Amino acid sequence: MSTAPILRLENVSKRFTRKLDAAERIANLFGAARQEEVVHAVDDVSLAIGEGEVVGLVGESGCGKSTLGRVVAGVHSASAGKVFWRDKDVSRLSGAERRDAILKIQMIFQDPMSSLNPRFRVKDIVGEAPKVHGLVGKADLDGYVDEMLLRVGLDPSFKTRYPHQFSGGQRQRVGIARALAVNPEFLVCDESIAALDVSIQAQVINLFMDLRRDLGLTYLFISHDLGVVEHLADRVVIMYLGRVVESAPVAELFADPNHPYAKALLAEVPRIDARKRVFQPVKGEIPSPLAPPPGCHFHPRCPHAMARCKVEMPKLKEIAPGRVSACHLNEG
Ligand code: SF4
Repeated sequence: MSTAPILRLENVSKRFTRKLDAAERIANLFGAARQEEVVHAVDDVSLAIGEGEVVGLVGESGCGKSTLGRVVAGVHSASAGKVFWRDKDVSRLSGAERRDAILKIQMIFQDPMSSLNPRFRVKDIVGEAPKVHGLVGKADLDGYVDEMLLRVGLDPSFKTRYPHQFSGGQRQRVGIARALAVNPEFLVCDESIAALDVSIQAQVINLFMDLRRDLGLTYLFISHDLGVVEHLADRVVIMYLGRVVESAPVAELFADPNHPYAKALLAEVPRIDARKRVFQPVKGEIPSPLAPPPGCHFHPRCPHAMARCKVEMPKLKEIAPGRVSACHLNEG
């Protein structure tokens, strides 16, 4: 990483507890021993993201990548650990400083239809936050909204329309305009193009990259689509059952993955058409995050598992400059 971190996570965990329902509480009164279930969605993750960097966060469904994105964006608070924005512990900020830190990190969701209020016109969707936070005066708001719409490639005359009057790609552009309206420096994109047609996906990716160039934005790009991540990320972070198992510059990772899970995730399907890489699913079932396997969480699916892997959790270890992996095979 060539620049100072704009965002840093230090031993961040996020746990969700499923409370007992009424029937279970009553059963306990009669001697049952039902217990609350705890999911360690994110487990002791440390990560630093440099200013202007695009970090791709990948892993199978349920690996905790969306939860981690939400912790970064402040949608969820961390159960343990710290989030630093420009070297300041976000949990210790208050007043204007806290508000500014929160506004600087914006999230773009997968489904723009459910994240945009269907009863609001686009001018209100895009203009509401800058108005509420006093970023733009009432007299200038209309022109400001026009500017945001132009920035994302939408005609400003669309501002009187409602979300349902747009195509999926246009709605995602409205969502991006809404995020840009508060002058963010960091975008967390959570499967932001997954719901779009392939041709539209390419346009939205290009928009993200134009915004990176023009506004100097930093991205945490969460995606199950490894081809997209390879195309746009500088660095890739791979998660498995709540933990980071490998982090590496994108070209190095795709050329030579280190962690057995990364190798399995990046294994390509043989094909005749060489233009598009297609990846095959990792063999074996993902264990339940309610009861992750002891030791290395990946050991039940790992072709290289040893006795030690079943009892000892491997730590992330530097295997090359700017590259870490958590596997006992790296420890000799
Ligand atoms: Fe496989 Fe063991 Fe490495 Fe885990 S620590 S990935 S089980 S070899």
